[in-house]
Amino acid sequence: VAQAHLDRIAKIDEHVHAFLHVDAEGALAAARAVDEAETPASPLAGVPLALKDVLTTTDMPTTAGSRTLEGWVPPYDATVTRKLREAGVVILGKTNMDEFAMGSSTENSAYGPTHNPWDHSRIPGGSGGGSSASLAAFEAPLAIGTDTGGSIRQPGAVTGTVGVKPTYGGVSRYGLIAFSSSLDQAGPCARTVLDAALLHEVIGGYDPMDSTSINAPVPPVVAAAREGMKGDLKGVRVGVVKEFAGDGYQAGVTRSFEAAVEQLRALGAEVVEVSCPAFTLALPAYYLIAPSECSSNLARFDAMRYGLRVSDDGTHSAEEVMSLTREKGFGPEVKRRIMLGTYALSSGYYDAYYGSAQKVRTLISRDFDAAFEKVDVLVSPTTPTTAFKIGERVDDPMAMYLADLCTIPSNLSGNAAMSVPSGLSDEDGLPVGLQIMAPSLADDRLYRVGAAYE
Ligand code: GLN
Repeated sequence: VAQAHLDRIAKIDEHVHAFLHVDAEGALAAARAVDEAETPASPLAGVPLALKDVLTTTDMPTTAGSRTLEGWVPPYDATVTRKLREAGVVILGKTNMDEFAMGSSTENSAYGPTHNPWDHSRIPGGSGGGSSASLAAFEAPLAIGTDTGGSIRQPGAVTGTVGVKPTYGGVSRYGLIAFSSSLDQAGPCARTVLDAALLHEVIGGYDPMDSTSINAPVPPVVAAAREGMKGDLKGVRVGVVKEFAGDGYQAGVTRSFEAAVEQLRALGAEVVEVSCPAFTLALPAYYLIAPSECSSNLARFDAMRYGLRVSDDGTHSAEEVMSLTREKGFGPEVKRRIMLGTYALSSGYYDAYYGSAQKVRTLISRDFDAAFEKVDVLVSPTTPTTAFKIGERVDDPMAMYLADLCTIPSNLSGNAAMSVPSGLSDEDGLPVGLQIMAPSLADDRLYRVGAAYE
């Protein structure tokens, strides 16, 4: 199985560019170990997987899509990496991504864009475009992504694959190169809901190495997916988020969403409309909080500790080396966010910007709490449009940011959310995603509803 996927990668990845690094030797050695083991280590033993290049691996470079980490081989495995290895999952390689996970199209990668397998002239979503594209191109049956504002779900939607952002704290962040620590969450990507559930159970769970890890059992996601596959949603209350519709949503996406809601009803769910007024403020709040945390997290790339170091020929001071390296090592979007975040956190502006954004964050959590008193899950389109053309939004950060309009509230409040394929748009024939949101630690609800719908 590993060899078949390596052959597929060798044949088509020059057109897709899902991978930044392929470790054929390591993958085959891991596969051989599974073949030789007396009992399989897990239900996923021997199943190949593509790992987003933001999770550390001791046997492969980890770049986070940045020039600044080119060639860096970490001294330790991320907890997610370790759990995958212990489960006998065969890691094929590391996937392309927007630099430090900042973006919605994978065009911010320092190593060139990934192409959407459905149409190579289009983006595969981002920041985890490589992971989702590898699934859609049948280069891997499973992948790992990370989701700070939508980077698992939006690539899932535009490539016609499944992507899950678990409850914040449900999957360890140890060894996940930090972008915005209070939002970042690793999660499973797959072609079916059940596959995602099996992967979720492998990577989830408490980790003392991550102080924000939740000390609770992994929700029963595999059992929930199997239950959902029976196709009966009687007794499940589904809330349609009123604010996520209207202007800015492509007609094909809206029609697909309406059909999805009808299908949920046909499966027996009780559907009601729910209003979450603070969700309309999620995007501006996110674009203050995420850059603020990024400006602090990315201070560690100081030319001393990791990767790239330029102009260290003895003619420059340490500070000059630092600033010349950062100038060369970071791309434009990363620099924009560092500047924005530094500004928002500066004394005198802190209350006006960061403080206000944190208050909005609380309001969003309250909207979720109120909604989940009435319904079991919320639904919306995952993203307002299908995959756009490569190059179309690179000069327009605002247009790029709008791709995450519907996904960001769940990052700000920390609850679980999934994107499940919702057919093809009748406008352009490209994949559309249905987003399902559930309360924190009720990730299993996503899988029940997602598997019933799929
Ligand atoms: N597209 C969003 C951003 O640029 C989300 C990224 C992510 O989830 N990592 O910040």
